Amino acid sequence: MNRKILLTTACFLSLTIVNAQVDSTTEMTATLRYVGDTTKPQATEFYKPVPPVVTPGKKYGDAPADAIILFDGKNLDAWHSDKDSTKPAEWIVKDGVLTVNKKTGGIITKQRFEDYQLHIEWRIPENITGSGQARGNSGIFLANTSLGDEGYELQVLDCYNNKTYVNGQTGAIYKQGIPLANACIKPGEWQTYDVAWTAPRFDAAGNLTDSARVTVFHNGVLLQNNFALKGITRYIGIPYYKAHGESPIKLQSHGDPSEPISFRNIWIRPLN
Ligand code: MG
Repeated sequence: MNRKILLTTACFLSLTIVNAQVDSTTEMTATLRYVGDTTKPQATEFYKPVPPVVTPGKKYGDAPADAIILFDGKNLDAWHSDKDSTKPAEWIVKDGVLTVNKKTGGIITKQRFEDYQLHIEWRIPENITGSGQARGNSGIFLANTSLGDEGYELQVLDCYNNKTYVNGQTGAIYKQGIPLANACIKPGEWQTYDVAWTAPRFDAAGNLTDSARVTVFHNGVLLQNNFALKGITRYIGIPYYKAHGESPIKLQSHGDPSEPISFRNIWIRPLN
């Protein structure tokens, strides 16, 4: 073996050893893996996968270019009745605003989602009456897993000077996650929720492999910080998981007698 071949072989062997050590000890994710000499800056700089360009809305709350519009003030084409998927959503659309119809039940999206970013705005009527849970109660079921109020409810309620159990107040993951703050503003004003939802995962046998997780901002204030859900949110009883796939999002028509609340500017960005 001449000197040139010896040198080439030595070089190849040392690189192989470095790569083997790096691969076995410094994996970041399934797609990012350090390659080469990790004492060099280039070993930790990646050029793919390239994140897509997403043009933001002009101002906060405006839908980004890639968002799916669920309600833009015009109609309820993206929704149907939560009781019967052949029936239209019968909430009231007027002057660009969507108002709960307490006689017809909830509404759910026609489209199903798994992980997503959601923006939704809601308003408690200025003349709201009632107290506790009976004061502007609604809710956003981040995944509606069966007929009725089954799924994972992010509570909507007027908690501006209105007390109730803390794991059922505005921004609670109902009866599971106490919000980190009360960011309610007074009835009559529009409020925002910005939500990052990661759906639970189940194996082929239906066993839970990863809990659902949610992050929620209310009027720009963090209420839920990557909160891990214990299962579906329940009025009575302990939460539990049951396997499901992609699911619609539901807006709740609560049975309390207080004046119906309104929604506007609802958009979603699926993340898978
Ligand atoms: Mg509710």
